[in-house]
Amino acid sequence: MRAPEKRYAMTVDTRLCVGCKACVLSCKAENAVPDGFCRDWIVETVTGEFPILSAEIRSERCNHCTDAPCVKACPTGASHVNEGGVVLVTHDKCSGCKACIAACPYDARFVHPKGYVDKCTFCLHRVQKGLKPGCVSVCPTGTLVFGDRNDPDSEVSRKLATRKWKVNHPESGAEPNLFFLL
Ligand code: SF4
Ligand code: SF4
Repeated sequence: MRAPEKRYAMTVDTRLCVGCKACVLSCKAENAVPDGFCRDWIVETVTGEFPILSAEIRSERCNHCTDAPCVKACPTGASHVNEGGVVLVTHDKCSGCKACIAACPYDARFVHPKGYVDKCTFCLHRVQKGLKPGCVSVCPTGTLVFGDRNDPDSEVSRKLATRKWKVNHPESGAEPNLFFLL
């Protein structure tokens, strides 16, 4: 029987993230992200009423959506689905028209100063060498876990099976693959 194709995903444990931004800085260095732009970022949400407040800190990035609106919107084929469902942009095919930016429900894309649209790649260049994405490799609290959702023994599958989780904008229908553990 053929093994199922890989489906890469990431879990973000909202109980562990301290908002230190090591993930953001690691990504910038790993991917030479230009000044003023980020491929991943931190969101802090405070809920409740004083004095009973609770804060949630989330490390966010492209959701590598299974039904990616950016890929459907791209008129040149620059935005495409690669190994493991990772959504990538072929720089020299990108016209910079921004159709994908308008289509993305997660505000995950930006125009690189060189003219093409850029975003998180799940560090596929590292993953193909057996390494973790840059953000995952530096997180001091173990907040970020990356792996194959189609492998029931992967850490990411075990987290999704044993913890409560949510995704951002489930109503988008994009089937995101960035899961926030609660
Ligand atoms: Fe949170 Fe880890 Fe990123 Fe620090 S490195 S902000 S703990 S996800
Ligand atoms: Fe595309 Fe946005 Fe989904 Fe990433 S989060 S795959 S850029 S629609």
